[in-house]
Amino acid sequence: MSQIEFYDTRSREQRPFEPLTPGKVGIYSCGPTVYAEQHVGNVRSRLFSDLLKRFLISEGFDVTHVINITDVGHLVSDADDGEDKMEAAAKRAGQTAGEIAAHYTELWRQDAAAVNCLPPEHNPKATDHIEEQIELAKTLEAGGYLYSISDGLYFDTSRFPRYAELAGLDLEGQSEGMRIGITAGKRNPSDFAVWKFAEEGVQRLQEWDSPWGVGFPGWHLECSAMSSRYLGERFDIHTGGIDLATVHHTNEVAQSECGFGVHPWVSYWMHNEFLSMGGDEKMSKSKGNVKTLTDLIDRGIDPLAFRYFFLQAHYRQQQAFSDEAIASAAKGFKRLQKIAAELEAVEGDGSADEQGPYRARFREALADDLNAPRAMAVVWDVARSDSLADVDRRDLMRAFDPVLGLQLGCASTAVSDEWESDPRIDGLLAERNNAREAKDWATADRVRDELAAEGIEIVDSPEGPRWRRK
Ligand code: AMP
Ligand code: ZN
Repeated sequence: MSQIEFYDTRSREQRPFEPLTPGKVGIYSCGPTVYAEQHVGNVRSRLFSDLLKRFLISEGFDVTHVINITDVGHLVSDADDGEDKMEAAAKRAGQTAGEIAAHYTELWRQDAAAVNCLPPEHNPKATDHIEEQIELAKTLEAGGYLYSISDGLYFDTSRFPRYAELAGLDLEGQSEGMRIGITAGKRNPSDFAVWKFAEEGVQRLQEWDSPWGVGFPGWHLECSAMSSRYLGERFDIHTGGIDLATVHHTNEVAQSECGFGVHPWVSYWMHNEFLSMGGDEKMSKSKGNVKTLTDLIDRGIDPLAFRYFFLQAHYRQQQAFSDEAIASAAKGFKRLQKIAAELEAVEGDGSADEQGPYRARFREALADDLNAPRAMAVVWDVARSDSLADVDRRDLMRAFDPVLGLQLGCASTAVSDEWESDPRIDGLLAERNNAREAKDWATADRVRDELAAEGIEIVDSPEGPRWRRK
């Protein structure tokens, strides 16, 4: 059996996966900033960490998955200025930051459930962990890594020689590029705020006391503080969208390696590529070109069809979103669900020997840095196979599904939207069902023939008799 390998952004290579503790895996995923509804690009990021988790569970690992909720400190600009996204949204809506956060956190959870993501073991909010963040900042201050200027307490990145390592940054180029517009008093362009001071005369919705005065934590601090709280000072895998590598994750590494005295803080950095709008155009809230899962549902698309769409691309490839691409994925998904649901009705025992090669190919695809498109090709080989027995096809679909999370063969969601609904025909179908129950075969047959004359076929689905137009 081939070894699991993952691509690690930091070492820029695909490496065999070895967890810190045999049999256990800790994953930390940067979660949503809960000031607006998440778009399907964010859902791609969520699905990626879910696929990773499901695959590792299928390999027998005991997985602890932490996804944070950013409900403070994420400023509009990466350069530690601009408004706090949470504060701005709360003011716009005339609500408290807590109300805004609760609302969008709930929507985010609903989206994740709709695409069948396993819930994380821990889902901590930044505002519930202010104390841990202050503690880490105190440790960094004691180590001489921080300095204070007018608007906050900053991390001196020149004190951390490996600062450029994760994202392969060109710090000299960055100095050139950032000479203009740099926060006054910052020692290096890449220095970042660990604690921001509340501006005098400005009443913030969210602020806390700290040894450095009233203020709020810098965005990056929460992920270092909360990951160590739930996974320890070193852990196995950190995920997030590729956009986070150059600033957010780079700063997380600096704080954590200096604060905890560890290296490497994270064994594998796994970043998903973007969902794009075609070409180089990213889907992003700031561009205003976003689609949400609700938009898809309103168009009659099953959220799980979006999961199927996600599985059609490798997570490290950009994936182009378009109405046509989603519609075609929805069609493919329905076809697969139908096949799997029909196989569910097959009885009997399969043959381990017959199934073995398919199981091995499916596993190998995912063990090779989560190659989902290749795994889906195996799924379709099984779905379409003439040579495999139906019992074996059924068993294989059942074996693949917990990793894919597509709810294949799950009758209630699988077939329900295959069936049509029309009050008159539904009524006739009910009449036929009643007649059958009463063993009135003559009536049952008459109704069936009547429907057949209209081109309507009755199908015995796992949910009971349903109809469709031939
Ligand atoms: P945010 O709520 O903006 O902080 O983003 C949550 C997660 O979604 C982060 O890991 C981002 O990197 C990721 N993300 C944002 N936009 C996209 C996109 N268009 N495609 C894939 N992932 C994205
Ligand atoms: Zn983070």
